[in-house]
Amino acid sequence: MRAGSVQRKENTMVYKTGEKPGKGSYRCLNCGQVVELKSDDDQLPPCPNCHHEEFEKIA
Ligand SMILES: [Zn+2]
Repeated sequence: MRAGSVQRKENTMVYKTGEKPGKGSYRCLNCGQVVELKSDDDQLPPCPNCHHEEFEKIA
């Protein structure tokens, strides 16, 4: 919320390919493709649509 601060990965829950953020749905920050992880041991894949490697959790 602070104006002028860097509003990037520090303030947003961003998960990257190869991380294991846990079961849930993640949305590609580039194209909006949703990837579902069905297990806490699943790694985030690259985006199946655009191969971007950063996601936000949506569910
Ligand atoms: Zn994508």
